[in-house]
Amino acid sequence: MRSHGAAIIGGGIAGTSVAAELVAAGVERPVLLEAEPELARHTTGRSAASYIPGHGPPSTQALTAASEDRFEALADEAGHGFLRPRPVLRVATTAEEERVLREELLPLGPVTELGPDDAVRRWPALRPGAVRAAAVVEDARDADPIGLHQHYRQRFRALGGEIRTGARVVGLGRRGSGWRVTVDDGGTIDTDLVVVAAGAWTDRVLALAGAAPVGLTAYRRTIAIARIPPGAPVRPDDPFAVSAGDRWYAKPEGTHLLVSPSEETPQEPGDARPDELDVALALERVNAVTTLGLRSVVTTWAGQRTFAPDRALVVGDRPEHPGLHVFAGQGGSGIETAPAAAALAASVVLGVEMPADLRRHGVRAADYGVRRIL
Ligand SMILES: Cc1cc2nc3c(=O)[nH]c(=O)nc-3n(C[C@H](O)[C@H](O)[C@H](O)COP(=O)(O)OP(=O)(O)OC[C@H]3O[C@@H](n4cnc5c(N)ncnc54)[C@H](O)[C@@H]3O)c2cc1C
Repeated sequence: MRSHGAAIIGGGIAGTSVAAELVAAGVERPVLLEAEPELARHTTGRSAASYIPGHGPPSTQALTAASEDRFEALADEAGHGFLRPRPVLRVATTAEEERVLREELLPLGPVTELGPDDAVRRWPALRPGAVRAAAVVEDARDADPIGLHQHYRQRFRALGGEIRTGARVVGLGRRGSGWRVTVDDGGTIDTDLVVVAAGAWTDRVLALAGAAPVGLTAYRRTIAIARIPPGAPVRPDDPFAVSAGDRWYAKPEGTHLLVSPSEETPQEPGDARPDELDVALALERVNAVTTLGLRSVVTTWAGQRTFAPDRALVVGDRPEHPGLHVFAGQGGSGIETAPAAAALAASVVLGVEMPADLRRHGVRAADYGVRRIL
């Protein structure tokens, strides 16, 4: 006897968005299980909140492109938008960054080259003479991760989905042709469909079922909200400035400046904390290419970006564990790809055809399949 149509493990953007898609597709009595007392406490609540066409490997770019119209449709549904224009300015200040910009970034469709003077006009904080080459992604946006998460959560509940917080999954075992999910309060859920969307913890959850790991690695990334010294040339609509070599990024955040050293420090899954050295590095690297003279921060945080070995999203089950689906490896793109990725994951989990709009944008389910990792 199945108590629930599906159990989704993990209440970040991945789990919540696929849960909303599954209930909308007619799955009855789905349950979303989140270990923490509230949803979105980990990576989802800690992002830089950007939507950048052309970001990540080609399979991620396809999902980001396919998400654009879906973001619009979600905005219509919600009565407010989740994206606001903010072009991305890629800046090369060293010979190596100039090579990356010319050989790796400019060949991407949505990127246009800018001369150094134009780059300074676009971002007056840049130190004159520091820029060797630059490019702009005009169509990039600021995203609203928490608003998006909240919208998916509301849709899930409105259509009959159940959310349990403070519900850490501690057991996953076969039960007939389905699965029995055990929660740390002793409760159990019997279902045919399990979706493991547990971010950095996904391989640990798979281990509960005796399933082989996907080989995910969690990498810490730090963000600092820096005070802008009086008179510094920062405007609210400045671009999201990103080093061409991924050594720093900076964008206005209210009356402050959000900065990051763009580090990737491998870690065990957990509650990532910012390292003081990374915060100092972010200020130092941004100061080196600007006239800002940043000295102090208002707040800092860190989160874990989780990648499969080939950095593509992972969606699906394995032949030896039918019905035990993975939806993980969103890396640094879990917000910008969420609408299309959730639709893809729901179609894979339900074994139905992928929506046509995803196919039009070059999304091919096989590029994300967990079976590629075997
Ligand atoms: C600094 C930083 C900047 C970023 N910037 C961007 C950006 O600009 N644009 C973008 O698109 N993306 C960005 N990202 C990436 C994006 O935030 C992630 O891809 C996305 O949030 C991942 O969501 P998730 O749901 O997979 O993970 P999470 O939000 O971590 O959710 C996983 C959940 O699973 C739960 N869980 C774990 N184990 C169990 C268990 N046993 N039982 C029940 N629940 C469990 C956890 O408690 C957690 O809530 C950034 C990330 C970071 C850290």
